[in-house]
Amino acid sequence: MSLPQPSTVVTMPAVRVADLAVVGLGAFGAAVAYHAAALGLDVVGFDRHRPPHEFGSSHAETRVTRLAVGEGAHYVPFVQRSHELWREIGAATDTVLLHDYGGLIIAPAGVSDDDRWGNFVEDTAVVASGAGIEFEQLTAADARSRFPNVLVGDDEIVGREPTAGIVMAEKVVAAQLDLATAAGAELRFGSTVSGLSRSKGRPVVRTSDGDVAARHVVIAAGAWAPTFHDVDQLCVTRQVVFWFEADDLETWRPDQLSFVIWARKSIDEYLGAFGAPWGGIPAVKVLGEQFVETTTPDAVDRTVSPGEIAAFYERMVKPRLAGLTPNCVKASVCLYTNTTDDHFLIDSHPEHLDVTVVSACSGHGFKHSAAIGEALARRAAGQDHLDLSPFDRSRF
Ligand SMILES: Cc1cc2nc3c(=O)[nH]c(=O)nc-3n(C[C@H](O)[C@H](O)[C@H](O)COP(=O)(O)OP(=O)(O)OC[C@H]3O[C@@H](n4cnc5c(N)ncnc54)[C@H](O)[C@@H]3O)c2cc1C
Repeated sequence: MSLPQPSTVVTMPAVRVADLAVVGLGAFGAAVAYHAAALGLDVVGFDRHRPPHEFGSSHAETRVTRLAVGEGAHYVPFVQRSHELWREIGAATDTVLLHDYGGLIIAPAGVSDDDRWGNFVEDTAVVASGAGIEFEQLTAADARSRFPNVLVGDDEIVGREPTAGIVMAEKVVAAQLDLATAAGAELRFGSTVSGLSRSKGRPVVRTSDGDVAARHVVIAAGAWAPTFHDVDQLCVTRQVVFWFEADDLETWRPDQLSFVIWARKSIDEYLGAFGAPWGGIPAVKVLGEQFVETTTPDAVDRTVSPGEIAAFYERMVKPRLAGLTPNCVKASVCLYTNTTDDHFLIDSHPEHLDVTVVSACSGHGFKHSAAIGEALARRAAGQDHLDLSPFDRSRF
């Protein structure tokens, strides 16, 4: 008589169950992971690369930050809180992350019908006055005499916010990730999330190195967001950042002028220029905007040709900025992810109520990232947080 054979027991790898899973650890994901871990949540974060890196939307050293946010008064509490947080994070990591030396915005005099940048100086002045933020308006002649490198036209108006400035974007991402790890978050770099599923009523993040279930998931995938959600609402575009050599770099000292933004009648005439240097690159960072060529992070052309550099210099730089040579010492491709109304999208995933998506770029998101990350972390922890409802999907 043969004895019964023991049945083979197959042990399935246990699925890790976290309080919060964060997909994407750039500006927003790093902020969420840090604050959630600091609040005591069990956090797992994933990034296909190791941020800060040059493939998404948060590189090229610096970002403009303005407390008087001409894009809308509802943004002001977020940037104000971000400034506080960058000071705190800077102190905790022994880094200066925020340089609020003041900045200039320039727009055509008279009424514009451009949705994105129309009447930017007046809009900013209204927000500043409503929020008690210092903001001065200068004549073109005053601006030219105070800031000789900025070739303001007589048909333009100028605003200066003394509390505006520059945030060291890559350092902010790195500092938040360091603090997240120190607070106990498990961060998995080089780990690509391939999708979401559900198990036992919870969302599950699927990755090449195993699945992780969580009570709540935040997707902060930047320019990769359309692979997860809202493909019809999000548009990814290629943007180029250039660093041009200056005749005399001393005249671009950031403590004199951190940045100038030119909001022109037509979108493709937008120009941003930064004081210099901020660290590694001894040249002046300049960038425009374009919304004609859409792309994806995989398909985008990351090379910048000599012809593209020369055309940008002739059309955009030479007429508006004095003392810059055509010698471009570095150029870098960066990605914008815009919603259809150029504001942010922060809401539940269309198919999962316990998954929050945050697509907060539209070319102006960094300045709010620390505070939005904190708000999302506090929401996941069931705590009071800044009101995120202006960014709901219902407005579309
Ligand atoms: C040229 C340029 C200039 C800008 N200027 C300003 C400015 O002056 N002021 C301002 O406030 N804002 C500015 N912005 C906007 C601001 O930089 C963005 O709002 C912000 O960086 C977006 O951060 P993010 O976290 O959404 O994206 P990212 O920082 O790109 O992070 C997304 C992360 O998700 C990861 N990821 C994606 N898919 C997956 C996946 N499947 N699995 C795992 N990981 C994944 C990526 O690797 C990436 O690290 C600018 C943007 C650009 C491009």
